[in-house]
Amino acid sequence: MTQPQRQHRTNWAGNVTYRARDLVEPGSVAELQEVVATAAAAGGRVRALGSRHSFSTVADTDGRQVGTRRLGLEVELEDGDEDEADGPFAVVPGGATYAEVAPVLHEHGRALHNLGSLPHISVAGACATGTHGSGDGLGSLATAVTAVEIVASSGDLVRIAAGDPDFGGAVLSLGALGVVTRLWLRTEPTYEVAQRVWEDLPADEVADQLGAVLASGTSVSVFTDLADPTRVSSVWVKQRTDASGVLAPCLASRAPATRELHPVPGVDPAAASPQLGVPGPWHERLPHFRASHLPSVGDELQSELFLPRSAAPHLLAALTGIRDVVAPALLVHEIRSAAADDLWLSPLRGRDSVMAHFTWRPEPDVVMPALRAVEEALAPFSPRAHWGKITATPGLRAPERAYDLAVFETLRRRLDPGGVFAQDLLSLPEA
Ligand SMILES: Cc1cc2nc3c(=O)[nH]c(=O)nc-3n(C[C@H](O)[C@H](O)[C@H](O)COP(=O)(O)OP(=O)(O)OC[C@H]3O[C@@H](n4cnc5c(N)ncnc54)[C@H](O)[C@@H]3O)c2cc1C
Repeated sequence: MTQPQRQHRTNWAGNVTYRARDLVEPGSVAELQEVVATAAAAGGRVRALGSRHSFSTVADTDGRQVGTRRLGLEVELEDGDEDEADGPFAVVPGGATYAEVAPVLHEHGRALHNLGSLPHISVAGACATGTHGSGDGLGSLATAVTAVEIVASSGDLVRIAAGDPDFGGAVLSLGALGVVTRLWLRTEPTYEVAQRVWEDLPADEVADQLGAVLASGTSVSVFTDLADPTRVSSVWVKQRTDASGVLAPCLASRAPATRELHPVPGVDPAAASPQLGVPGPWHERLPHFRASHLPSVGDELQSELFLPRSAAPHLLAALTGIRDVVAPALLVHEIRSAAADDLWLSPLRGRDSVMAHFTWRPEPDVVMPALRAVEEALAPFSPRAHWGKITATPGLRAPERAYDLAVFETLRRRLDPGGVFAQDLLSLPEA
C-alpha cells in the first residue's frame, strides 16, 4: 500500500480541491477490502477515485479517497457462458484507463461499441458517471458493462451481473455503492473508423438539418464557439468502415476539410485524433483526442445537459438568443447524441437524447452567469445535468427528473447501511 497522501489535491481541471483527508492506494484487492472494512468500523467515509477528470464534486468525500490503480489486476478476455452469444467479455480493472484497455482488446481482435471524447479516463470512473461518446444508436459507456465487482462497506467482494435485480443501479453508481475492482465489458469484433470534418458551415442549415447531421455517421459532433451566430465552426463525422452513413444535405453538398482541426477553434490540431478520412482502429478515431496528448484545452470548465432528441431542432436557436452572455465565457459548444438506457441513475434513462456540452473558460465569474442562462434557456426541454460536470442549478441533478432514486437508495442501504460511501450529489435540494 502506498503511504497515504495528505497534501491538497485537486481534480484534473483544478476547479475542485478535494476535502478528503488523504488518498490511499492499496496494493491488492485484499488490502483494499481491509481499508474499507477498517474505515467502516471506525464510522469513516470512503470514496473511490478514478483519473480525476470530473468537474463536479462527485469524486470527493470528507473521509478518505481510495485509488485502485495498484491492485495488480490485468485486462483479460473471458468467454461467455455457452448460452451467451456475445462473448468474449473484456474483464478490466476499474482503475485502468480506456487508453490502456482499448489497444489490448484491439490486439485480440475485439472492440467496444464506443468511447468518450478522451481515452485518458478510468473505466470505473467513466461508467460511474454515465460518460458517453456520440452516436444516435450508441448507449453510454456504462451500457457495455455486463457485470461489476465491488468492495462493499463490509469489506466483502460483491459481484452484480446483468439479469440480477440490482444490476440497474450497480454500474452508474457515482461511487455510492463501494469501490469497483473489476468490470466485465461486452465486446464485438474489432473495426475501423474514418473521420472527416466539415469546417465553417451555415448555422441555419445545420440547425434545420440537425437530426440528419447527427445521423450522418456512426458518431457525430457539431462544434461552435458562437463567435459568429451565422456559422457553425465544424462538424465531425466518425464513420465505421464496415457500415455506410447518409450525409445530411448540408454536408453532402460541401467538401470536407483538407487540413486537420482541433475541436476548439484555433487550437493546434496535434492533440486531435486523425482525420482526413484516413481509416484506423476504432480506439484511435472515436475519441476526439489522442491518448498521447493533453485532451481538450486543460485550463477549462465543462458542463453538459441531456435533452430529449426532439429538442435538437431548437438547440442552436435557443443558444443564439443568449449569445451575448454565453460567447464571452465559451471555448466551444458541442452537440452530440446517444441512445436511451435503463440504468437507474442515468441521464439517458428512458430517453434517446441530444447532449448540449460546453467547454468554458476557467473563469467562474463569467461562466456561472452564462451557465445559468443556458440552463434557463433549455429548461423547457427538461434537461438533465451530467453527473461529472458543473451545473448552476442543483435541481438539474434532482432525481425526480429521471432517476429511480428510491430503488437505488434501497440497494445503497443494503450494501452500505452505515453510509461509508455516502454521495452528496444524491441529496435532493429542498423542494
Ligand atoms: C477533457 C475532458 C473531456 C471529457 N469528455 C467527456 C465526454 O466525451 N463524455 C462524457 O460523458 N464525459 C466527458 N468528460 C467527463 C468525464 O468522462 C467524467 O467526469 C468521468 O467520470 C471521468 O472519469 P474519472 O476516472 O476521471 O472519474 P473521477 O472523476 O475520478 O470519479 C468520478 C466518479 O467515479 C467514481 N469512481 C471512480 N473510480 C471508481 C471505482 N473504482 N469504484 C467506484 N467508483 C469509482 C468516483 O467515486 C466518482 O463518483 C470529460 C472530462 C474531461 C476532463
